[in-house]
Amino acid sequence: MARNATRTPVVGGNWKMNTDRASAAELAAAVAAERQASVEVIVFPPFPYLLQVRKVLDDAGGAVALGAQDLWHEPNGAFTGEISTDMLQDCGVQAFLAGHSERRHVIGESDELVNRKLLAGLAAGLTAVLCVGETLEQRGAGQTDEVNSRQIRAGLAGVAPQQMASVVIAYEPVWAIGTGKTATPADAQDAHAKIRALLADLYGTDIAEATRIQYGGSVKPANAAELFGQPDIDGGLIGGASLKAGDFLGIVRAAAE
Ligand code: PEP
Repeated sequence: MARNATRTPVVGGNWKMNTDRASAAELAAAVAAERQASVEVIVFPPFPYLLQVRKVLDDAGGAVALGAQDLWHEPNGAFTGEISTDMLQDCGVQAFLAGHSERRHVIGESDELVNRKLLAGLAAGLTAVLCVGETLEQRGAGQTDEVNSRQIRAGLAGVAPQQMASVVIAYEPVWAIGTGKTATPADAQDAHAKIRALLADLYGTDIAEATRIQYGGSVKPANAAELFGQPDIDGGLIGGASLKAGDFLGIVRAAAE
């Protein structure tokens, strides 16, 4: 089985609540210093460092996109601690994560809230990375496809077909995130193929075939090539390994092969 050649792989670096002012700038500069023309690269720094990372990326030519780890769905007002799409765009943000497992399972975001955020980000013209995936318990109960289907149907509720060009799906089994455990390439491919079939049911074959579906969960330079070589895996969303420029660039190179 060979990787699909018509979709540009996308590799995201989710820095989570890591880095400081100096290390964020250093990491962004190191990531932006290398360019693989056949891969789209996005970094998701913590909010306080967005502006300075924007400048670092611009100084390096602007090929690496800037993403936000979250957003709030209302345009402005009394939402203490939250960040609007206008604010993000004012900082040069181009993409955002919706429904990352830590927001679903640690912070407690519902499918409905994830959907509101996704719709608001898309309406503002941002690229949405909708994260879905099952917990270990759900996997043990044979519910992987059911959970992915529920989270995708709910997450994409109200998303128009023409907006799907701005949507990336990230399949991230929760038990594989930050644990060093990775889905086997065959298991990941199986989940991705089912997600693509669901997208075909929802939006038709052309949109399903054009939508990028990333894999996330303990991706490292050593396992990236085999995962990304699967026909329905279009790059990855990377947590831990995105904090070391060398590892992250190794993964970007694997997506370019
Ligand atoms: C993530 O946070 O989206 C992720 C996949 O983390 P890690 O690569 O550390 O498993």
